[in-house]
Amino acid sequence: MAKHFDYIAIGGGSGGIASANRAAMRGANVALVEAGPLGGTCVNVGCVPKKVMWHGAQVAEAIKLYAPDYGFDVKIKEFNWAKLLESREAYIGRIHNGYDNYLAKNGVTVIQGFAKFVDNKTIEVNGEHYTADHILVAVGGRPSIPNIPGAEYGIDSNGFFELKEQPKRVAVVGAGYIAVELAGVMHGLGTETHLCVRRDTPLRTFDPLIVDTLMEVIESEGPTLHTNATPKEVTKESDGSLTLHFENGNSVNVDQVIWAIGRQPTTDKINIAAAGVELTESGHVKVDEFQNTTAEGVYAVGDIIENGIELTPVAVKAGRLLSERLFNPEMPNAKMDYNLVPTVVFSHPPIGTIGLTETDAREQFGDDDIKVYTSSFTAMYTAVTQHRQPCKMKLVCQGPNEKIVGLHGIGFAVDEMIQGFGVAMKMGATKADFDSVVAIHPTGSEEFVTM
Ligand code: FAD
Ligand code: NDP
Repeated sequence: MAKHFDYIAIGGGSGGIASANRAAMRGANVALVEAGPLGGTCVNVGCVPKKVMWHGAQVAEAIKLYAPDYGFDVKIKEFNWAKLLESREAYIGRIHNGYDNYLAKNGVTVIQGFAKFVDNKTIEVNGEHYTADHILVAVGGRPSIPNIPGAEYGIDSNGFFELKEQPKRVAVVGAGYIAVELAGVMHGLGTETHLCVRRDTPLRTFDPLIVDTLMEVIESEGPTLHTNATPKEVTKESDGSLTLHFENGNSVNVDQVIWAIGRQPTTDKINIAAAGVELTESGHVKVDEFQNTTAEGVYAVGDIIENGIELTPVAVKAGRLLSERLFNPEMPNAKMDYNLVPTVVFSHPPIGTIGLTETDAREQFGDDDIKVYTSSFTAMYTAVTQHRQPCKMKLVCQGPNEKIVGLHGIGFAVDEMIQGFGVAMKMGATKADFDSVVAIHPTGSEEFVTM
């Protein structure tokens, strides 16, 4: 006899864990199936280890670039990569314990193993069958690798987090969040770093002010940027090093090549067709606004959904709201709002953005309906040193009452500035609302209310 649950979540990552816990808190009998360590991409090979490495790079920059002008005569005797990894992994271990405890407290049954669909009410794990009235698919994605000769010599972001030693020279290929973040981390920690983008800039879908400023900082501080550098081939040299060849005829010789060219959904290994769930050509799950798939009783959240936003808090919120809808009679219409999602790129300096870019706003509403305010200054933390770094901000306002439809910033501490502005924008804040707030001085965030 198959064991029966009210709800099974496949995938113990950001979306699956959040949804399973919330369903159990609402009284459902819940199982969570996870093939690897709990926490999924974010905790094990994503946000968390990345942010620890980013903080490491921030410490290095503080010592190397800023300490001298603050009067500290410090020299780095040694940077111990292994120690940083030890601290990082110990921290992740504590998060795993936290998940174990919280799932146990909520009475969620955790099944360790790889789930495959038998039909829309049944899955198989380790040869056992489990049935449920409702099944959530939250299996996340994996890094894409280019289809070029020698691609296997490179590593992806998962491989980056496995590096036991700091590479002396790396080429990071890609132009999105991961490429920019990993290149910034490696550069900050002292690796000779080459960021290789196939067009003119990294992060080209971000607001032009952000992209231009990032380019300016990269040009003056590094890493080395290679533009119009489409990877063609990787060759292994007799000394063990790798040469990354570009279609434009140039090449770069390094110790590691890191592919960061996007991610693809892991929906191809779970026999999803047996459940009657339709996928897009790219393998993403087709869902409606309530996270319903095309199969009755099967739902999807997180990185695998069509037109989704690949961020942990998005998977978490969608997973929780789905559980509220299914198991909380007071919230029968709960659904995720995918508008105005704040996001940060942990670049050097960090980038924060909410809502429309100026380009998109002008396209959507027309030039006459859009008014833009900008602020440009040198972050005070850096202004008293020889390593002055720009901080730039932009508000994109729409309509006669200047509703704020886009907020963008790049510079020191911007990562910690924008969350609250997200609340204001969700409430429909206008430029006048921003102006009505007394500034906090001296901070960077005060610029957002004094433009
Ligand atoms: P995942 O977290 O990927 O979880 C899916 C889980 O399903 C995995 O644990 C997997 O083992 C399991 N699984 C797969 N198939 C099966 C199966 N058949 N049976 C059982 N289990 C299965 N987002 C942010 O918001 N901020 C950041 O700073 C950030 N940094 C990132 C840095 C990197 C390097 C990467 C790669 C991603 C980052 N992200 C960040 C994105 C974030 O990690 C993802 O958006 C988020 O993890 C998606 O959650 P999910 O639940 O959809 O999938
Ligand atoms: P992205 O999709 O963000 O970026 C990948 C980029 O690489 C593409 O946009 C493309 O840019 C470029 N690219 C694609 N194919 C190739 C190719 N064959 N050769 C060279 N370049 C190529 O993917 P990421 O892997 O960076 O990250 C995945 C997602 O994870 C992000 O979108 C984000 O949602 C999430 N994430 C969030 C973080 C955060 O919140 N701080 C951090 C890390 C990840 P172009 O077309 O311009 O060349």
